[in-house]
Amino acid sequence: MIIATTIQEVRAQVAAWRKEGLTVGLVPTMGYLHEGHASLVDRAVSMCDRVVASDFVNPTQFAPNEDLDSYPRDFDHDCALLEEHGCHMVFYPAVSELYAPDAATYVEIQSDMPKQLCGKTRPTHFKGVCTVVSKLFNIVQPDKAFFGQKDAQQLAIIRRMVRELSYGIEIIGCPIVREADGLAKSSRNTYLNPDQRKAALVLSQAVALGQRLAAEGETSAAKLVGAMTDHIGREPLARIDYVSAVDGVTMEPVDTIKPGVLVAMAVYFDKTRLIDNFTVEG
Ligand code: AMP
Repeated sequence: MIIATTIQEVRAQVAAWRKEGLTVGLVPTMGYLHEGHASLVDRAVSMCDRVVASDFVNPTQFAPNEDLDSYPRDFDHDCALLEEHGCHMVFYPAVSELYAPDAATYVEIQSDMPKQLCGKTRPTHFKGVCTVVSKLFNIVQPDKAFFGQKDAQQLAIIRRMVRELSYGIEIIGCPIVREADGLAKSSRNTYLNPDQRKAALVLSQAVALGQRLAAEGETSAAKLVGAMTDHIGREPLARIDYVSAVDGVTMEPVDTIKPGVLVAMAVYFDKTRLIDNFTVEG
């Protein structure tokens, strides 16, 4: 596996692959990789001739009070996992390679979409995400890019950005990978102490409850969200940021549960904020 730290190296390698007529897939990550990330790489390897993963803790998507400095990092482990899953190149840039000290150009969806759900407590987050993903798209120029359904609002926002900025890139959404007990895999799970780790099961339990109610025909978003909220609320270590039902494409709140509705949540365990979601099936 090639380890590239500069934009120049990535461009040269991708150009060489293009010359051979090979297709290229991109898997953007912030590193500290786990089986969730690996599933994106597996999917990319199955759909593209060459796969590039980026491993970059993007400062512009963290607010000053968030966990940028403490975000877990283990590049050697990341390389081993990527190589094992058939990734061809990892892009591991320094912050200075992607952002000039006076960088002032951002990509932002100017609608309510990035203000819903996670945007309520993280108002600048998706501006940072869109900016770094645009940069990665411009550097790698992939045919396809792979994102996890775990970050459902991010996936919807990237789809919209790609459509509206005319990127000729196909966005592939991949299912949530979970621990054996149901907790969605996340680099941030490492912050949890044993009691919080146990308590964090309320997220996947709430997802299962919501899915069961939807399958049983519950059409009231208020009732379904209320039942999930009650369940999480019974766990003393959990502090709810939001539990919401929204349109799966626009992220606008909905009153009625029907196929395509995204039911998403964010819950704090002390300072650790975890997310989970499901989309109502047809
Ligand atoms: P991150 O490193 O947290 O920025 O995540 C990089 C990519 O991996 C994003 O597209 C995430 O949605 C995806 N991802 C993270 N955790 C999971 C998971 N448990 N299952 C599926 N995809 C995931």
